[in-house]
Amino acid sequence: MTTPIVEMDGDEMTRILWQLIKDKLISPHVDLSTDYYDLSLQNRNKTQDQVTVDSANATKKYGVAVKCATITPNRQRMEEYPELTEMWKSPNATIRSILDGTVFRTPITIGCIKPAVRSWERPITIARHAYGDVYKAVEFITDEPGECVMTFKGLSGAEQSVLVQKAAGPAVWLGQHNLDSSIRSFARSCFQYAVDSRQDLWFSTKDTISKKYDGHFKEVFDDEFERYKEQFEKLGLEYFYTLIDDAAARIMRSKGGYIWACKNYDGDVMSDMVSSAFGSLAMMTSVLVSPDGKYEFEAAHGTVTRHYYRYLRGEKTSTNPIATIFAWTGALKKRGELDDLPELSAFAQTLEAASLDTLSAGVMTSDLAALADASFEAKTVDSQEFIDAIAERITPGGL
Ligand code: NAP
Ligand code: MG
Repeated sequence: MTTPIVEMDGDEMTRILWQLIKDKLISPHVDLSTDYYDLSLQNRNKTQDQVTVDSANATKKYGVAVKCATITPNRQRMEEYPELTEMWKSPNATIRSILDGTVFRTPITIGCIKPAVRSWERPITIARHAYGDVYKAVEFITDEPGECVMTFKGLSGAEQSVLVQKAAGPAVWLGQHNLDSSIRSFARSCFQYAVDSRQDLWFSTKDTISKKYDGHFKEVFDDEFERYKEQFEKLGLEYFYTLIDDAAARIMRSKGGYIWACKNYDGDVMSDMVSSAFGSLAMMTSVLVSPDGKYEFEAAHGTVTRHYYRYLRGEKTSTNPIATIFAWTGALKKRGELDDLPELSAFAQTLEAASLDTLSAGVMTSDLAALADASFEAKTVDSQEFIDAIAERITPGGL
């Protein structure tokens, strides 16, 4: 490897798994070159969170990053880590705003764990627009009759006003927005990812009701699609727009194997629904794709705090490392593809296959053993044993 992968280390149990994965599954086989950033809460605090910004800028430079789960501090964490000088922002939010990307979440599926929806044969990837709408809304409550007017004041001095509603009594109000630039980036990342992953792209809104707001999302997608149309045709891919309720119904009857692009709120809700219907958060990967084709891979789950405290007490934990392993293989494959290193991509595939073979052989962490078919004889192991079992399955011949 010549161009490095940006490595973003993290916190708690996932930090422990991170080291095991590197030591036992990757370093023995790959001449690994990484640009390392320690995003542990302690180091973010020490550097006044500069390390997070630096890691995102390095991702812009090198194009491929892999990130370990990190703690987003809240009030309880401030008590747990009294040395914190500030309630640092979510690293994912910081990185996302620097890369201006869209998050794609994909379940890792295996035969012995059947999705709750019988027709699903292949994974469904959810792309969630991560800016605006109700997440950046303003709202208030009123307790007397009156009217609410929404006004836009242009820098030019021009104004536009619209009566929201006259209310005869107490009422609740909400003003929300989105930005053309953000919608366009979202669209571009979705089309780019569809091309990269060779999957159809579905997009849904409620433009029959919200003719201007949701209608605008649809127009921006249609407009951006013009730039990708030829590539889609060449690859035999489809861009399919439909109403959100129609999409929800179709998805339940589909076989899977496509990307579903959702507005912010729809993506929030649907990604939790789709991930739990496929199995568990521990089997979900996540990749942030920027509109100019930079990639940051990670597991969708958090730092698994409860397991970490058991680990600190010296107990064995059966924490599932699959999503973190797949974050690494995603990054290795992408590096291999961008730098034309077929052996690196092949190794990543071998590691994925070894991980899934281990599961298929019935060797699994306890979270999966609980989900597997009743007829399936699973042997529950701890994290270390599980990673060892995968390591044994990576045969040099498979490289
Ligand atoms: P979490 O770490 O995802 O864990 C929630 C529960 O899900 C765990 O207690 C465990 O259940 C189960 N679980 C998750 N991943 C698992 C795995 N790999 N193997 C086995 N079980 C797994 O979520 P959280 O407890 O809400 O958050 C913990 C910390 O992570 C927080 O500080 C949060 O800020 C951070 N976080 C970071 C990211 C990120 O960096 N992308 C994302 C989400 C949360 P049982 O305990 O029942 O076994
Ligand atoms: Mg959610």
